[in-house]
This record gives sequence, structure tokens and C-alpha cells, in this order.
Amino acid sequence: MLRNCADCGQIFAHPVNKLCPSCTKKQNEMFEKVKEFIRMHPNATIQEVVVETGVEFDKVREFIDEGRLKIVPIDVVFRCQICGAKLSSGRICSQCQADLLLKGERLEEPAEDNNSKRGKVHSLERRSRESRRHD
Ligand SMILES: [Zn+2]
Ligand SMILES: [Zn+2]
Repeated sequence: MLRNCADCGQIFAHPVNKLCPSCTKKQNEMFEKVKEFIRMHPNATIQEVVVETGVEFDKVREFIDEGRLKIVPIDVVFRCQICGAKLSSGRICSQCQADLLLKGERLEEPAEDNNSKRGKVHSLERRSRESRRHD
């Protein structure tokens, strides 16, 4: 499947990536830099991360929004993706989560997968990968 790199516009073949291999590599390096900086400076703000790592604000914000960064700058504000309410973590507020459940849409694992809670983190990661597959 051919597509244009979202960053440099170069044509490349990949089923899911939005970036060409060289931009993907650059992006991964940026991500590691940001991640490492925040790990070493847990009280850093986004601005400090941008200045110290040289990674653009938009990229840093993208890493945060994608949920790739497990530790985020202290001034990051998460917003509910549905109603826009401020959150301390996560992507959907408890109110909207409850609404979704009422509508019968499942954010959690299917009911038959109730054997172990330990596998949960794992299966959530798997789910997010699968949902990007048909991009
Ligand atoms: Zn590229
Ligand atoms: Zn909400």
C-alpha cells in the first residue's frame, strides 16, 4: 500500500505507518529523547521539554495525545475526547464512560474475557494496536 509520508511527503509502502521509514526513525529518536528527559526530570513542564530536547511542541503534544508517553510533563492537561472536560489522566471522563456504557458501547474487554485482571494491560495494548490496523 503506497502512501505519502505525513512529514516529508515522500512516497513509501507500508500498511499502517503515516511516516516514511526515515521519518519514523527520526520520530522514534525524538520520542526516546522526550521520554528520557521526562524520566530524568519528572517535574519538567512541556516548555522545558521542548527547549531541552529540541523536539517541537506539536510533536511532544502528539506523543502525549497518542498515549505513548507513560510519564508526561507536569503541566499537561488531559481532556475528555468526547466532552472536552479536564482529566487528570486517561482519554474519556467518567461521565462519558458511563454514557457509553449505557449506550451499550464497550470500552472494556468483552465479558467473556473475565478470567484474569493481570492480563488486562496487555490486552488493552493489543486492542489499541488492532484498532490502528485498518487505518
Ligand atoms: Zn518522511
Ligand atoms: Zn467527557
